[in-house]
Amino acid sequence: MKYISTRGSAPELSFEEAMLTGLARDGGLYVPAEIPQMDPDDIAALAGLSYEETAFRVMRPFVGDCFSDQEFRAAIDRAYAGFGHAARAPLVQLAPNHFLLELFHGPTLAFKDFAMQLIGQLFQVALERRAERVTIVGATSGDTGSAAIEAFKGLNNVDVFILFPHGRVSEVQRRQMTTPTETNVHALAVDGDFDDCQAALKAMFNDFAFRDGVRLAGVNSINWARVLAQVVYYFSSAVSLGAPHRKISFTVPTGNFGDIFAGYIAKRMGLPVERLVVATNQNDILHRCLSGQGYHKGPTQPSISPSMDIQVSSNFERALFDAYGRDGSAVAQLMEELAAGGFDVSQGALEFLREQFQSGRASEDETLATITDTLHTSTELLCPHSAVGVKVANDLRDPAVPMIALATAHPAKFPAAVEQASGRHPALPPRMSDLYDRPERVHRIANDLDALKNHIRGHIAK
Ligand SMILES: *Cc1c(COP(=O)(O)O)cnc(C)c1O
Repeated sequence: MKYISTRGSAPELSFEEAMLTGLARDGGLYVPAEIPQMDPDDIAALAGLSYEETAFRVMRPFVGDCFSDQEFRAAIDRAYAGFGHAARAPLVQLAPNHFLLELFHGPTLAFKDFAMQLIGQLFQVALERRAERVTIVGATSGDTGSAAIEAFKGLNNVDVFILFPHGRVSEVQRRQMTTPTETNVHALAVDGDFDDCQAALKAMFNDFAFRDGVRLAGVNSINWARVLAQVVYYFSSAVSLGAPHRKISFTVPTGNFGDIFAGYIAKRMGLPVERLVVATNQNDILHRCLSGQGYHKGPTQPSISPSMDIQVSSNFERALFDAYGRDGSAVAQLMEELAAGGFDVSQGALEFLREQFQSGRASEDETLATITDTLHTSTELLCPHSAVGVKVANDLRDPAVPMIALATAHPAKFPAAVEQASGRHPALPPRMSDLYDRPERVHRIANDLDALKNHIRGHIAK
């Protein structure tokens, strides 16, 4: 299995190489050269399997010969052992034919643990075998950073630096990044917004002297291995509601387009998906783009669902690559226009995208009202991101087709908004109830590329 870049001019890599490198050297994102297929019998055979066994069967064809079956199974088992729910990704019912997929039972209470815990294990196996060390640098709107720190802390062949926008993450998110005591993890509070952090990260990857000098590795949602790990729960949840004998729809609270893109991959592999709905908050650039208004950046409006406050949705590039017939130079051209403010999508590409994805947005008031209403009608307390999904799912679902809305974080990660809407203070699970008492360790830093690079160079273990 080979991986190719969405911009068409980086070397083809194996799964392991694509995982260890993150961003392609031409600035593009790695995608599989072809999508492995699961036929209806393969999908039906997933019924009743554990999450781990489902994960093995769904992901195995993408991995090629990089890991033995035994290594891969063991990594999957270790990745999900620390989850607080035996089902890993349980489904709960909100209303007739409307379901919620709870993806927040991992160690940092957001769906990013599904991918990050697994790639932590896979990095460990690969780096030990290669006797190599890497520097992981990540940019986060909150949840990626804590998930990465949790997954990589204490591993002996990685240093981890996480850039987060100072003052723009929730207190729980910040504390999850600043309280681990392992010396190989470094939380950096950048004076800027998430797009600034992400832009700095991309610039580091495009500076090959720095990239090679510190052996930079990326674990942001552009890392293909993360997308792949997220494909699994589309299969596990759809099968538990009757796939492949029945079509299922999904609504996904979307920011960087990684999670919904995993749903698209599941569909391309053969999972019978009726609708894939992109749900955005007031930062609705993806909804506007899918509504035919082009992709044009504006200012980021801070919201109560901060992990979706985004203007440059990195993984959308992967969807554009398919929409433009896998023409890397067309994608490279669009990304150049984006750097200057935005681009218009060609008619043919827009038709492709609208066949694959529907979209909707939720305002701040609608999000709060959805938290309130859902608590009353189903007893489920939603986090604001999940509420954006449930709101849009309600608007766009076909009552005859099961709709699964993805619940991307635990309500206790965003207590202020949840309490404002519901009057209830969502408690942290007991395993992290002392989070507010642990001492914090964080370095505040200017939104300045050289300052960031110097800090990283000066703090990696030699
Ligand atoms: C990251 C995140 C999202 C957005 O997911 P993408 O894959 O970036 O689209 C939504 N909700 C929560 C809670 C998140 O942490």
